[in-house]
Amino acid sequence: MMNSEKKSADTTVYRAEWILPVSSDPVHDGAVAVSGGFVSAAGPAREIIKSFPGAKLVEFHHAIILPGFVNCHSHFEYSVFRGFLDNLNFGRWLLEFIDYRSRLSAEDYAVSSRLGASECVSAGITTVAESMYSGKSVYAIKEAGLRAIAFQEAFGMDDSRLSETMATLEAALDELDEQRGRLLEIGVFPHATYTVSAAMYREVANLARRRGKKLATHLAESKAESAYIRSGSGVLAMDLREKVGWEYLMREPFGVTPVKYLQQWDVYGPDFLAVHCVQVSSPDVAVLANSGAAIAHCPKSNAKLGCGIAPLHAFLEAGIRVGLGTDSPASSNVMDMFGEMRTAIFLHRGAQRDAAVLDAAECVQIATLGGAKALGMDDRIGSLEPGKQADLIAVDMEHSHFTPIYDPYSALVYGASQEDVFFVMVGGRPIYEKKVLLTMDEEKVSADARAVKEKLWG
Ligand SMILES: [Zn+2]
Repeated sequence: MMNSEKKSADTTVYRAEWILPVSSDPVHDGAVAVSGGFVSAAGPAREIIKSFPGAKLVEFHHAIILPGFVNCHSHFEYSVFRGFLDNLNFGRWLLEFIDYRSRLSAEDYAVSSRLGASECVSAGITTVAESMYSGKSVYAIKEAGLRAIAFQEAFGMDDSRLSETMATLEAALDELDEQRGRLLEIGVFPHATYTVSAAMYREVANLARRRGKKLATHLAESKAESAYIRSGSGVLAMDLREKVGWEYLMREPFGVTPVKYLQQWDVYGPDFLAVHCVQVSSPDVAVLANSGAAIAHCPKSNAKLGCGIAPLHAFLEAGIRVGLGTDSPASSNVMDMFGEMRTAIFLHRGAQRDAAVLDAAECVQIATLGGAKALGMDDRIGSLEPGKQADLIAVDMEHSHFTPIYDPYSALVYGASQEDVFFVMVGGRPIYEKKVLLTMDEEKVSADARAVKEKLWG
């Protein structure tokens, strides 16, 4: 056996009608060679097959192979809240949500997280930036075989208890750090401007940098948050603080936007991910851009909760790294990146009355490589290029609504949904094949989730 043939024996070549490397033009009748967990080559099928003699060949036929989606914001732990609280504005939604969340046991969080993880895999999401309340989703992420930054959330408005709160956070991070691995990084997520004090933001940002962790927060999501920060009024200043027992604490009208408010506490930087950024002014966008921060854009969640439409065009024009996030099934019902791409293109074109705003290729770019850049992982993932981790998915194009295909980007963004994904690989390991989840018992995951719903709501 020739040397190159020996090498090729460890290689699998995946061939499909279309390959979208994302970092370069689509290839018709293309192939991707995967060896040792990495992409070895992507390009015209004939060339790739010739370059890897003796490699195993997998034919996907009428399908599109592309990098796995990077979901820049999720909460797997709330998957059992899918499809209820559908018709409340953000502030009221949050108050109700807190009540229902308190009913979940540690085991319920685990069940809910496994539901979220299994949905992500079958939807073609290979990387998630997951924010965790209970910390349970880290185990579901590992079980599913996903790549992730699992962010531990932190809450605290009472500065008299700050050192205690920080010690609890450090202990949680120590425990989570033991779960780190090739696919899993741990980050820190101070929850939001209305649940974390200024002093605590500063402390948490310091802690994240001291421990080399990425930092994220919910920022400028709703008008209620803007009212709270600017004038110390509204549902978050009154009802929320009363509900969580913070009503006795001093608060001030800070007189600025949420983005300006956080700027004071050394939170921003290239390692920082701002989630939402709907209620932002042009100077706010400049502040974020100058700091090197990235943004997770969650168009469906923001629209559904009546928060509004984030100025994606302004983010992109300012050179901000932007990825797409599904947010939790409690607010957006399904973790379908096709749905997020479609919502984004329709909302932004509709709101600006301009069909030149975004195109399908840009949407796929934002949902893959853009997300990887936003999470600081584009050296490893986000595109199909030699040397990158083999995180890829295949989408079935057999159905009539995909016929004919002039442009594969168009087919994906305007026509596809999560049910069309039939193959998912993370780091060279297939975790979803022929629409079957290989790492979890999908039926059991769903049955357990239904049982939680029955137990809590009858
Ligand atoms: Zn969130």
